[in-house]
Amino acid sequence: MNGERIGIMGGTFDPIHYGHLVTAEAAREKYQLQRVIFVPSGHPPHKEAGMVTDFWHRYLMVLLAVVSNPYFEVSRLEYDRGGVTYTIDTVREFRQRYKSAELFFITGADAILEILTWKRPEELLAMCRFIAATRPGYDLRQLNSLLGEFFQGAVSVLEIPMLNISSSNLRHRAKAGRSLKYLVPEPVEFYILQNGLYRE
Ligand code: ATP
Ligand code: MG
Repeated sequence: MNGERIGIMGGTFDPIHYGHLVTAEAAREKYQLQRVIFVPSGHPPHKEAGMVTDFWHRYLMVLLAVVSNPYFEVSRLEYDRGGVTYTIDTVREFRQRYKSAELFFITGADAILEILTWKRPEELLAMCRFIAATRPGYDLRQLNSLLGEFFQGAVSVLEIPMLNISSSNLRHRAKAGRSLKYLVPEPVEFYILQNGLYRE
C-alpha cells in the first residue's frame, strides 16, 4: 500500500506485558501508524541460549494480547527465518515486503541506548525511524551524545505513561507463585498459569 505507516515492535516478549502494549499504542497514536506489527524474536542474540521460552508460547501470548486491538498484529518472520535473529535482517525484510511504506521501529529506552551494540547500527538507523519510549530507570538524555548526528533525524523520543514492568520481573513473580494481575492482559495471565510457564 502506498505511503502506509507501519510500526514494528520487536522483542523477546517472554512474556508480553502492559509496558510493551502501552508503548506500541502510544507510538501508533502519536505517529498515526496504520498498524503495529509485533515481531517476537526467534533466537535473540542478546539473550543466553536455552534461557528463552519456546517461540510458540511467546508467539501465542503476543497473539492473545493483541487480538483486541484492530491496529495490532503479530508476525512469525523471525522464527521462520531461523537461526539467530538480528533486527537489521528483520527491517530489511519489511522494507522488501512493504516497498513504499514508512517504517517505524519501536523500542524502549533501554533498547535504544544499546543500539550501537546491535548489528550494523548505522545502516539500521538510516533504514527506518526509531521511536524510543521512556522507561523507568533509563535516561534518554544520553542519546544525543551517544548517537551524535544520527540522533536528530533517526530517533524520536516518545513520552509514555511510565510502567515499571519487565518480563524478567514477571518471570520471577511467576516462579515465586506471585500475582501477575494487572501487569499482563488477563488472557496472558491465564495462559501462563495454565501452561505452568516460568515455574522452573
Ligand atoms: P526482559 O526483562 O526479559 O529483558 P523486557 O520487559 O525488557 O524483558 P523485551 O521483550 O526485552 O521486554 O522488550 C521488548 C521491547 O519493549 C524493548 O524495546 C524494550 O525496551 C521495550 N519495553 C519493555 N518493557 C517496557 C516498559 N515497561 N516501558 C517501555 N518500553 C518497554
Ligand atoms: Mg529487555
